[in-house]
Amino acid sequence: SCTPRTHEPLFQDTIREAGLNPYLLEFVSIREHCSWVHMFEKEEATRKAKELVAMAVAKAALLKPLTQSTFPVIKKGLVIGGGTAGMTASLSLAEQGFEVYLVEKEKELGGNLRNLYFSLNGENPQTLLKEMVEKVESNEKIHIYKNSEIADFAGYVGNYKTTVKTYNDRPTSNNGDGTAQPAEGRGNLTTIEHGIVILAAGAKERQTAEYLYGQDERIVTQKELEERIASDRLESLGGKLSTVVMVQCVGSREENALYCSRVCCSTAVKNSLKIKEINPGVNIFILYRDIRTYGFREEYYQQAREKGIVFIRYGLDSKPEVVKENEQLKVRVFDPILNEKLEIDLDLLVLSAGIVPNDEN
Ligand SMILES: Cc1cc2nc3c(=O)[nH]c(=O)nc-3n(C[C@H](O)[C@H](O)[C@H](O)COP(=O)(O)OP(=O)(O)OC[C@H]3O[C@@H](n4cnc5c(N)ncnc54)[C@H](O)[C@@H]3O)c2cc1C
Ligand code: SF4
Repeated sequence: SCTPRTHEPLFQDTIREAGLNPYLLEFVSIREHCSWVHMFEKEEATRKAKELVAMAVAKAALLKPLTQSTFPVIKKGLVIGGGTAGMTASLSLAEQGFEVYLVEKEKELGGNLRNLYFSLNGENPQTLLKEMVEKVESNEKIHIYKNSEIADFAGYVGNYKTTVKTYNDRPTSNNGDGTAQPAEGRGNLTTIEHGIVILAAGAKERQTAEYLYGQDERIVTQKELEERIASDRLESLGGKLSTVVMVQCVGSREENALYCSRVCCSTAVKNSLKIKEINPGVNIFILYRDIRTYGFREEYYQQAREKGIVFIRYGLDSKPEVVKENEQLKVRVFDPILNEKLEIDLDLLVLSAGIVPNDEN
């Protein structure tokens, strides 16, 4: 009845000590496969246990002694994805003396970091990006394949053989969301031999059709807002910016995507503090389900409240409603503190759409 996880190696050791080949052992997991999963069907569980034992005995009669072999390991690494994680992993391997093959599907390294222009603690992500790319590109141990993807993959732990396809004429990222077009172009094939693989393929901002997104240029995602702030286009939509409303958890933490993206609450706080810094007079409302500013980012949430940013909680059963009446954008939301429905006229609606894996992954 003991679990093979802990006891199979123990019994193998005992057999070895007795002078037998340790692989002449067949283990039946009555605990996991019968006692636990069928605890309320005792008779059926007992019948199943007997059948499992009978099968194991039959199999044991056919067991052959096995010997362990050692293989040389190729001391080179393949890293898939040249964002922050992929570049960090590549640098770490290279600094430990290993050759690295870094495969990035886009024309440039950087991933999402290329779209981040400021951070909560005041550091400049673009400076980090520049420094990191320079370090990676100048490291002789890191072989970079940009505009490339994995065409074939074979082998086993320690000894992999991967074919990388590098495109000459592949369309570049023009989806507007940092992703590349599906590759149809011709490319050069390179075969790489390596011992380990690090997958650092990241994610992208979710595309949404909720809250009238795509129907009015005053409705943007957090990523688009950050680009506008960084390029001084915050007030370029006609007229002075007076009221901004942000909606959290767009497409997240509900059916089809139950997970929390973990970055969008902090991003909303970051972008609203930035707007207040540029223009303290702007009214900002953040409509949220839970504020998840992880760790010490909670301090920035507090700062946001102190600067007059208004947080209004909503539930899945009372999601905000966005309407456009005579060119005026409005959001209607029930405020549980005031216990009444509010209607807010706004100039800019910002959606925190969360993150999803890249389509091809
Ligand atoms: C909208 C948005 C806002 C964010 N805001 C913040 C923020 O303010 N602060 C913060 O710390 N973090 C933020 N994040 C999270 C941020 O993305 C991460 O902190 C960091 O950039 C992730 O780095 P990464 O290397 O894991 O992934 P990515 O940056 O996504 O990089 C993955 C790389 O892998 C490449 N790739 C993907 N698939 C393949 C493939 N099959 N073959 C080859 N290459 C492939 C991609 O092209 C990309 O270059 C945000 C994320 C999003 C989506
Ligand atoms: S908005 Fe906040 S709570 Fe919602 S998914 Fe993003 S980080 Fe999680």
